[in-house]
Amino acid sequence: MCARSRFPGCKAMSAITVRNLEVAGYTDRGRVRSVNEDACGFHADAGLFVVCDGMGGAAAGEVASHMAVESFIRYGSDHLGDRVTPEVLLRKAVLAANQEIYQRAQDQPKLEGMGTTLVSLLLEETADGTTAWVAHAGDSRCYRLRGGKLQQLTLDHSLVEEQMRLGRLTRREAERSPYRAIITRAIGTTEDVEPDVLREAAEVDDLYLLCSDGLTRELRDEEILQILLEEAEVQPAAVRLVAKANARGGHDNTTVMLVRIR
Ligand code: CA
Repeated sequence: MCARSRFPGCKAMSAITVRNLEVAGYTDRGRVRSVNEDACGFHADAGLFVVCDGMGGAAAGEVASHMAVESFIRYGSDHLGDRVTPEVLLRKAVLAANQEIYQRAQDQPKLEGMGTTLVSLLLEETADGTTAWVAHAGDSRCYRLRGGKLQQLTLDHSLVEEQMRLGRLTRREAERSPYRAIITRAIGTTEDVEPDVLREAAEVDDLYLLCSDGLTRELRDEEILQILLEEAEVQPAAVRLVAKANARGGHDNTTVMLVRIR
C-alpha cells in the first residue's frame, strides 16, 4: 500500500509529511472495551482525512467504521478530478459510504443496524491558498488550533447537544447525562444521510484535529489545547492525547488524527 494512502492506516500509529502537511493518526482500544470500533485513514495526496466511530452488536461496529473509512477515501480520491465542488464531492463520498454499509447490513442479518459516525477533512489547494472543508455526521469532532486558540468546528449530532441548544440542558448536565452516547445522525443506519459540511480558509500553522468521543469524554477542551501547545510535533501530540484519555480510564476507544499545514 502506498505510504501516501493509508486506510484504515493508523490502526497503530503513523506519521507522515507530504505536500505541505504533517499528519499523525493514532487509534487505541482503551482500557475497558474488548474491541476497537474506531477507524481512521487518510489519502494525503488527495488531502483527505477521516475518523469513524462504529456502533452495532457483535463485530458490527468495527465492520461499519472500517467500511466507512475505506469507502469514503476510495470515493473521494477516485473522484477528486470530477468537475464538482469539494462540498459536493464530500457529500457524495459520505453517501457512497452510507450506501455500502446500509446495503451490507441488509444482506447480512448479524450486521443489521450497524452504523458509524464520520468526521472528515478535505484540504483544497487553490491559487489563493488552502481551504479546509469539513463534513460530519454523529459526535466525532473536528477542532482547529490557530493562534493558541482551540475551536470546535463541528456541532455534535447528539441528543444532549440538541437539548443544550434548546436550552433544556446545561453543558455540565449534558456531560453527565446517561443519554450522552445517543447520536441523532449516523452513516449506514438508514438509506440516506445528510452530513453537515462547512468550509473555512486555512492558514499556515493551522492544526486540525479529528477525533472520536473517546477523547472528548475523557479530556476537556482546555486539556486537549494544553497538550497541543506543549508538543511541537504531531506524532507525540497524538500519542499523548490518547495516553491521557487512557490515564483517565480509557472507557471508550480513542482515535486522534492531527493535520498541520506548513
Ligand atoms: Ca465512541
